[in-house]
Parts: sequence; C-alpha cells; structure tokens
Amino acid sequence: MKKAVFRGSCGVFPNPRRAVLAVILLTAIICIPICVVGAAYAKADGQIISLSTTVADSEPALERSSEWQTVRMRVTAYCSCPKCCGEYSGGPTACGYKIRPGDAFVAADKKYSFGTEMLIAGYNNGEPVKVLDRGGAIRGDRLDVFFGSHEEALEWGVQYLDVKVHIGPQT
Ligand SMILES: [Zn+2]
Repeated sequence: MKKAVFRGSCGVFPNPRRAVLAVILLTAIICIPICVVGAAYAKADGQIISLSTTVADSEPALERSSEWQTVRMRVTAYCSCPKCCGEYSGGPTACGYKIRPGDAFVAADKKYSFGTEMLIAGYNNGEPVKVLDRGGAIRGDRLDVFFGSHEEALEWGVQYLDVKVHIGPQT
C-alpha cells in the first residue's frame, strides 16, 4: 500500500491536467521576458520625442522648446581658405552648397543631416544656422562654424557651448 502511494506522487506529471498547466506556465515564463524586450525595442523609436520633452521641461524660456535639444559641443571655426579646407578650398561644401559672401553655416557630424538647424551662442547674431558641411575632424559632438575670413575663424578659437539643435520637422 505504502509503495503504491509513493510511486504515484513521484511522477513528474501524475495527471494530464497538471501537465497542461505546467506547459502553459513554462510558455509564460519564456514568453514574458521576450515580450518585454520586444516592447523596449519598439519604444526606442520614440526615444527622440521623449528626449525633447525633457528639454522642454528644463528650459521653458526657449520658444518652441519642444523642438530643440541642447547638446554640449566643442565648437571650432573655419573659413574656405586652403589652411582650413586643404584640397576643398574654394569649392562647394560637402552637400554641394556654393558658398557666398556673408554666409553663416556649420559643419557637423553625419548624425546631423544636412539642413539641420542649430543655434550657437555668439554666432550669426543668435540666429539659427544650417548644417551644410562636413569635416574630417568634425566627429560626434564637434562643430565647425563657418566664417568669411581666416582671421574671424582664428578669433573664434575653441569654445565649449550648449548648442540648440532643431530636432522637430524642417520649417
Ligand atoms: Zn581659413
């Protein structure tokens, strides 16, 4: 008698209903983490939007602040002379833009697409300028602001600034 009871409770799934429950439980344990990871990836697309919201919260003073993101950047300057541009001197910018006298624009990393507006303190009278160029040393959060003369570029030097980057739709 004793032996029979022992054998019964020793089976992994003593009855079919428990077996079904166990399979459901196992499926849930495996699936839930996959679903959570999947949802996290799906949310990654909306990351920029949530970032801009953060900026809006911390900087209510800036107009249309929800569309601008503040990025700390190392800002250097250049002109179209051979010293600054080497073989590209006098030619168009990396996006094919033909430089005209009095132009103000910036060279930026390729993560900032051409035409992206940036507002750099002390440059272009506080008006936003567009990304129209690239540079060999301009990688990551480095910027090169354009000046009409080499003297002005030298005068700018190297500045670490909080640059406002327009991340909203192009106007
Ligand atoms: Zn120059």
